[in-house]
Amino acid sequence: MMGPRQVAQASLFYEFSIEDHVPADHLLRKIDRYLDLSEIRSFLAPYYSHQGRPSVDPELMIRMLLLGYAMGIRSERRICEEVHLNLAYRWFCRLDLTDPIPDHSTFSKNRHGRFRDCDLFRHLFETVLARCIAEGLVGGEEFGIDASIIPADAKRLNKVEAKDWTPERITRATDEYFETLDVAAFGAATTVKPKVLSPVDPAARFTGAKKAYSIFAYSTNYLVDLENAIILDVEATAPIRQAEVNAALDMVDMVEGLYGLYPEKFVGDGAYGNAETLGWLVHEKGIEPHVPVLDKTWRQDGTFSRADFTFDAEEDRYLCPGGIELLPHRRQFQTIRPRVTDDETVRYRAAKSDCDGCALKAQCCPNTPARKITRSIHEGARDLARDIAKTDAFVASRHARRKVEMLFAHLKKIVGLTRLRLRGPNGAKDEFTLAATAQNLRKMAKLLPAPA
Ligand code: SF4
Repeated sequence: MMGPRQVAQASLFYEFSIEDHVPADHLLRKIDRYLDLSEIRSFLAPYYSHQGRPSVDPELMIRMLLLGYAMGIRSERRICEEVHLNLAYRWFCRLDLTDPIPDHSTFSKNRHGRFRDCDLFRHLFETVLARCIAEGLVGGEEFGIDASIIPADAKRLNKVEAKDWTPERITRATDEYFETLDVAAFGAATTVKPKVLSPVDPAARFTGAKKAYSIFAYSTNYLVDLENAIILDVEATAPIRQAEVNAALDMVDMVEGLYGLYPEKFVGDGAYGNAETLGWLVHEKGIEPHVPVLDKTWRQDGTFSRADFTFDAEEDRYLCPGGIELLPHRRQFQTIRPRVTDDETVRYRAAKSDCDGCALKAQCCPNTPARKITRSIHEGARDLARDIAKTDAFVASRHARRKVEMLFAHLKKIVGLTRLRLRGPNGAKDEFTLAATAQNLRKMAKLLPAPA
């Protein structure tokens, strides 16, 4: 039997509860369980005037922003539309059926204003992370590190020669570019000056690291606890290896200082395998480096590489394949020369008299009078990393490191962070921090059982 025709009829009174219409197992219900915004108002209070028109509730704006990142809605205009239409979204934002939705322009004003002034997003990230730790999701023994390049909101074809560039007009992004010129994560990341700049976001670096063609981009850096892939820290940097490595070390220090987390293992790819980083991990922090060693001492021309020489720590010398010793000091100079060079290496030399009559000279140093070996002052740490790389524990940590890569895949596929919407280093920092907060919230929602 055909049912009666549905005709829209406006009723005078409704009995309707959004609470009843949001399923018990909805993702937003699970996220809401672990989202504590009780301190937001007192945290922001000094940044609001005591006079004038009341503002939009800051907690509502934070809920809407987090909702956008958790559900992969990147546009603030679209978040407003979706919250207007979707009952679950309204419930998460504590809005009733008839409550008005803030205008999308409110977000921009607050994001670039008081939210940034008080570093609200960082506070939010730390609050959520503290909850992850309190819920026992952070093991604290094995930290993974990686960086991922995210395209900036700057067209790659719209670029200017850096030497010709002067700002046509002062924008927030150009201001931030000048402010971060001496900051290690951005302008001072490398001594190599960029050849081209984006007029709209000059702090973004033109990089060809990930694509077939070069793009303007920033890097998001994650320090991750590998037990449950909880993000312990997130930093925005230029997409330059040195900036990413420095950020990694800062993050290890920061997590130790804030939460007392001190890992046994640091797991990263070859980008973190330079001598200084390994030396810092082993000698200063006492952390096992599960990192492939960046080794440029292998020779491709068939002559002996440094690995063919044996180091004798007791006698402070190398022994060559012919059994001859290479020493750090061969001659007595009138002016005493430092043992360690400016690039933090010690040079060991064979005696010319030994090499002259050596049958292996053609295989060893055909173009120089005697063989010389350079040894980093961090070589002990590099040797430890090489030894670790031969163990089963290293294979297991390589496997566990994929959790960090999965987080970046999730960041792009689910959170939808395939391109930044905000410009400048602070825009990148805000977006990366909010995205990492949403990822930790989703992780808690997934891992922790619902209360009975
Ligand atoms: S050339 Fe000199 S350093 Fe090389 S194997 Fe012969 S003696 Fe040793």
